[in-house]
Amino acid sequence: MSVNTQDIIPAMHSRFEGRQRDMEIDNVSIDSRSLQNNIGTLFFALIGQNRDSHQYIAQLIEKGVLNFVVSHIPVEVIGKANYFVVQNTLTALQDFAIYYRQLYNFPVIAITGSSGKTIVKEWLNYLMSPDYTIIRSPKSYNSQVGVPLSIIGINERHNLGIFEAGISTVGEMEKLEPIIRPDIGILTNIGAAHDEGFATRIEKIKEKLKLFANVKTLILQQNKFIESELLASYPLKTFTWSFEPGADVQIITQHNTGSTQLDVYYNDTTFQAAIPFTDEASVENAITCLMLLLHLGYSYETITDRLAGLYPVELRLQVKNGNNGCTIIDDSFSSDYQSLKIALDFLEQHKTHQKKTVILSDVFQSGFDTELVYAKVAKLLSGHSISQVIGIGEKISEQLADYPNFFPYKTTQEFLAHYKASSFEDETILVKGARSFRFDEIVVFLEEKTHETVLEINLNSIIHNLNFYKSRLLPSTKIMVMVKAFGYGSGSYEIAKALSHQKVDYLGVAFADEGISLRNAGISTPIIVMNPESSAFAAMAAYNLEPEIYSAKELRAFIAVAQQKNLSNYPIHIKLDTGMHRLGFEENQLEELIDLLRNNNLVEVKTIFSHLSSSDVPEYRDFTLGQIAKFDQWSAQLIEVLGINPLRHILNTSGIYNYPEAQYDMVRLGIGLYGVGNDETERAQLETVGTLKTIILQIKDIPRGESIGYSRKYRTWQDTRIATLPIGYADGIPRAWGNERGYVVINNRKAMIIGTISMDMMMVNITGIECKEGDTAIIFGKAPTVSDIAKALGTIPYEILTSISQRVKRVFYKE
Ligand SMILES: *Cc1c(COP(=O)(O)O)cnc(C)c1O
Repeated sequence: MSVNTQDIIPAMHSRFEGRQRDMEIDNVSIDSRSLQNNIGTLFFALIGQNRDSHQYIAQLIEKGVLNFVVSHIPVEVIGKANYFVVQNTLTALQDFAIYYRQLYNFPVIAITGSSGKTIVKEWLNYLMSPDYTIIRSPKSYNSQVGVPLSIIGINERHNLGIFEAGISTVGEMEKLEPIIRPDIGILTNIGAAHDEGFATRIEKIKEKLKLFANVKTLILQQNKFIESELLASYPLKTFTWSFEPGADVQIITQHNTGSTQLDVYYNDTTFQAAIPFTDEASVENAITCLMLLLHLGYSYETITDRLAGLYPVELRLQVKNGNNGCTIIDDSFSSDYQSLKIALDFLEQHKTHQKKTVILSDVFQSGFDTELVYAKVAKLLSGHSISQVIGIGEKISEQLADYPNFFPYKTTQEFLAHYKASSFEDETILVKGARSFRFDEIVVFLEEKTHETVLEINLNSIIHNLNFYKSRLLPSTKIMVMVKAFGYGSGSYEIAKALSHQKVDYLGVAFADEGISLRNAGISTPIIVMNPESSAFAAMAAYNLEPEIYSAKELRAFIAVAQQKNLSNYPIHIKLDTGMHRLGFEENQLEELIDLLRNNNLVEVKTIFSHLSSSDVPEYRDFTLGQIAKFDQWSAQLIEVLGINPLRHILNTSGIYNYPEAQYDMVRLGIGLYGVGNDETERAQLETVGTLKTIILQIKDIPRGESIGYSRKYRTWQDTRIATLPIGYADGIPRAWGNERGYVVINNRKAMIIGTISMDMMMVNITGIECKEGDTAIIFGKAPTVSDIAKALGTIPYEILTSISQRVKRVFYKE
């Protein structure tokens, strides 16, 4: 892109303050961590729920960024850069996109609907890229921020645009319409997603239709209500399809194994096409794509040809554990400049090692000059300090030959034949290739080989849950996130990393070694060690870990170490025992504590806290209020006598939910972050974080009257089909969950666990359930939930979660 700052001052309704009014902008950024930030960047300081990007301006100026769109100029950076001062920086980003959009004039397709937007967009890109140079929304960039950023990706080579727009509440589509300014509209199915923001379905549909206010043609499944609503408001033509007669195009489907045949009736002619899917959603999405091709005048032959090549779209970048301590980021489905840029930013945020390797196929950008494309790719790679690039394909191996540490291969097979699993060690590897290169085979080869059981952790849900609890707190209340016990079994490092960009003030671990591993992995958030052992004090000081101090004896030992290591004002955290009776100072020990702390500058009391024993038990409300009262009084006494100014905190997850009035300066969020609430309504507002999955190893048909498993606990009373799953009590599945107490979910159906659970295996009853060997079985997740299992077994979700053995591979993903 190239835009002059002179032109955007009025476009964004901004006031300019700075030295140089006339500068060329070559990229736009909203992310302070993006490595593209440089002299040509226009940085929009957006204000989010958790973050106000104005705070990063000083840091960005040091990196060389000169132009900022702000709603105010923070004092420390006044006069140090150029500022475009606006009322609202998000609106300014949208205005910028509107201005930028009108610089280009080519057909643009806009897609909205409840589901299928991203898939339809990706498929259309695949179907039409032989004929057009397409700009499309990257991934699912369809929001108030995502749409402007997608539009800003347009450049002079593009001759077709495909953008998706998603909304979560009324009023949003009106803002997106002038940014996209579509000529052709596509409405995918209208379902129940994001229902909470809309009074009625009608209102929602009307809101969505605003995207099409100025299109010439709208493609949709025939729907009398929508069509009358539309035609009443807008001067457009519809182009409709239906499984019944009466629409512009009628489709009759016929399901075969693994594919669906479409008989298409259009304009008194007919033709057939087959798609490699059988599920309803994919069939409808494919028909939507077919409709656009018909509308654009593609020949029947081309349509049939291209539809046959449709493929499953992977919508998320997956982070996987690799061999030799490597981390793999799997993006083996596309290769174009835009998505490479996103993947490299993702790599930067999720790298677990300093060494970064990229395995990249030929980059497809039809219509662009090959040398120019690769020059841009090379610049992008070096901008992200990629240590090593493996290029696979005829073009890339030639074009990037001069890139330092570049290893060229003509084909994926050639690479696989040459490389050994041991070729990579302790590095983060981005695997990014166009589908035709079959990089999925590379991922299989790099991935750590364990059995097929995985605990999938959804990092988006973690952030959702964090925000849910934040929304119940005052904005000024600080948050400490408990990642003890390996992040409640979910992986402490990855969670700490995912949270490092959220506003989290402290992390809590149980033992020093947990904190040391976090530090070694590059986590710099302050960390409190809850059960520090005196033997670890020196190591804690070396790693900047802050101890919980629960007794005078411990404090003396820590002070001795502080003296010996010449520490001063070392942060410590005083724990008071107000009724939990586990660790902490009791009332009669406060004097001694005060004596030790008075006039002591070796340590500094950063926080004073206590722990509630029963914040989740409504009948102990009085007891809990008593704990809070004691805490209030004792901590006030310490503060007054010592003349100190520490933060105070007492609430854990259910405390936040039930006693928000006692939030003091900070809260300690644990189980809730992982999606487990202690009561029904709380739970309903959280998202499931962990899904424990395995596969069906073998299926057997057992006649009536046989027994299953150890000690013959189950007898078949009819002919029974069973599946054996490779997961057992050594993986952390409680044995008590066997013998028809518990179940797993296979293809959305309950399959009872029959017989005793073995160490590494269990059997389930799949009579009447459609499934085959290799299919997925869900042990817990959305259903059954960890809470369901805990309740049935008379224990608590904490125990179930933290018992999942470390041999179960954790896979982290982000949508
Ligand atoms: C574990 C722990 C928490 C978090 O408790 P949850 O119930 O999981 O929110 C808070 N404070 C202390 C001292 C803890 O040990």
